[in-house]
Amino acid sequence: MNCLGHCHPTPVRALQEQSEKIWHLSNVMTNEPALRLAKKLVDSTFAEKVYFANSGAESNEAALKLARRQALEVHGSDKTQIIAFNQGFHGRTFFTVTVGGQAAYSDGFGPKPGDIVHAEYNNLDSVKALISDKTCAIMIEPLQGEGGIVSPTDEFIKGVRELCNQHNALLIFDEVQTGLGRLGSLYAYMDLGVTPDILTSAKGLGGGFPIGAMLTTTDIAKHLKVGTHGSTYGGNPLACAVSEAVIDVVNTPEVLDGVKAKSVLFVDGLQAINTKYNVFKEIRGKGLLIGAVLNDAYQGKAKDFLVAAMSEGVMTLVAGASIVRFAPSLIIPDEDIKEGLARFEKAIAKITS
Ligand SMILES: *Cc1c(COP(=O)(O)O)cnc(C)c1O
Repeated sequence: MNCLGHCHPTPVRALQEQSEKIWHLSNVMTNEPALRLAKKLVDSTFAEKVYFANSGAESNEAALKLARRQALEVHGSDKTQIIAFNQGFHGRTFFTVTVGGQAAYSDGFGPKPGDIVHAEYNNLDSVKALISDKTCAIMIEPLQGEGGIVSPTDEFIKGVRELCNQHNALLIFDEVQTGLGRLGSLYAYMDLGVTPDILTSAKGLGGGFPIGAMLTTTDIAKHLKVGTHGSTYGGNPLACAVSEAVIDVVNTPEVLDGVKAKSVLFVDGLQAINTKYNVFKEIRGKGLLIGAVLNDAYQGKAKDFLVAAMSEGVMTLVAGASIVRFAPSLIIPDEDIKEGLARFEKAIAKITS
């Protein structure tokens, strides 16, 4: 979220300047920050069209509705199946929790949106077993975040693209967590050799300010005509001005190469801690989205590590019950990584003593 930390001067200035121009417009009009941001996203990705929303869930909701509408208009009413993945996370609207792979989030609200099935991440055969010409889209995170910091294998992610091509299904990448430089490239797809048909972005896109976006091609976008879908605040000039400034800072070799270098420092530091305390069975992830998987003696205890770290002044996250997740600012100074790890080590010393 806070991909540039707190109060980075570039987005702060953009917000201040925009706040004295215009805050909001009727959505029969557009505004300059929205047009500039859309152009920036189009110029730096595969996309030709952008739809703005206010969050990750809303961006995914738009992507799923677009995929269903596109399939209906191009292929007819039978093509409605959506394939997603166990442990996937796509937001908290009813459509997106149902597509997400944790029943605990979608149960208990009555009848769910239909024709949504789940395969196993990194298991191409499980996708093959479900896909058919009735599949309208596959929605996937190009690295499962909430689900446990799981990277896709090369064979799997390329295989998923290939299966979509064979069955005329759209490939939707949910890059809400992986986008905006988090993994060391502007978007994760750029490093995978796989281009999606639709991509969603949020979290880092606003650097802590609420905004979301759905990116796609002109050919697909034409199925979401004006009036078919919309949002009052999507494309809000304040949010778009901030986001434009965030992209200007993040989408530079300096910051993106920095993510890769800081990742090495971070992972090496965690390995060194583990050599002393033997608490992790694996350190995984990519760029500055890192998961430390607790070994069997600490199963289900990730929350305890989070709480202990917090009392040493270090903010961590969890990804499931047994993984401690780190997602620091992309421009965190190396000294802060070292200081943070030293404090994290103190927390671990307390837990293990
Ligand atoms: C956080 C997250 C979302 C939901 O984003 P919100 O802005 O909370 O609605 C969707 N997908 C992924 C992969 C996420 O990590």
